[in-house]
Amino acid sequence: MPAIGWYNGICGNLSEMTIPMNDRAVYFGDGCYEACLAVGTRAFALSRHLDRFEHSLKGLSIPFCPDRDAFIRTLTDCLAAANETCSVLYWQVSRATAQRTHAFPTGETAPNLLITVTPKKLAVPEQTMKLVTTEDIRYAMCDVKTLNLIPNVLANEHARRCGADEAIFVRDGFVTEGSHTNIHILKDGVLYTHPTDNRILPGVTRAILLELCAGLSVRVSEQAFSKDALFSADEVLVTSSTLGVRRTAAVDGTAVGGRDPGRFLMIRNAYDHLFSEEMRV
Ligand code: PLP
Repeated sequence: MPAIGWYNGICGNLSEMTIPMNDRAVYFGDGCYEACLAVGTRAFALSRHLDRFEHSLKGLSIPFCPDRDAFIRTLTDCLAAANETCSVLYWQVSRATAQRTHAFPTGETAPNLLITVTPKKLAVPEQTMKLVTTEDIRYAMCDVKTLNLIPNVLANEHARRCGADEAIFVRDGFVTEGSHTNIHILKDGVLYTHPTDNRILPGVTRAILLELCAGLSVRVSEQAFSKDALFSADEVLVTSSTLGVRRTAAVDGTAVGGRDPGRFLMIRNAYDHLFSEEMRV
């Protein structure tokens, strides 16, 4: 099946869908979004994504507050229409369609809801990642999942040109997160991860990872770690909704990790088990 698109109630093949030029997403990236993995009509960790979406809407003062059950029905209808075994469910809300002015439009406007469902092959969990570091030039609102992703786009393109899979943002010598992932290390049995402040996106997979670690008696320290710590880490972990929990083989062309495979596998297996249980696959 082709990917499907849905915009303010109209559904069709994604490649044929259009949106109005005056949608503020076009001019300003004035909106926020979510993306999660789905198997059939089940979306993984959906309620966590919806909670984060509410946080983003609040951060941008976008008055979009549909009934949660009705909203889930709309998302589920899109998944049903796409009829995919495995897909990425994406949705975004922009502030309004209005003539271009920086300040919020006044008068009768309403937020725009855009949904896409694109086919996705489940990631091979054993596949390791190659990462490259890059300066974190982003602003101080990284906890809000806005459509403004230019630094992330540039960083990820930099990674691609370096033959790597993902870029790691480094700010003042400390790792914040990846261009579209969270980054963690295992050192001496402790999982270190950047605290959830305005410098990172509070990843849904990160949150699940921390809960799983607690259940597995793996100590967690929500403390920023340095770029140098990547090279002395026992394992470097990458997490995101579409990748799950992955292990890193190299950073900036230097081999890293591979020193605590037992603990890494225990954590990753716990995540994969949870995913399979919830998705019934
Ligand atoms: N950090 C950034 C900047 C992201 O864009 C993403 C995902 O898109 C993540 C982290 C991982 O978040 P999640 O685990 O919710 O997919």
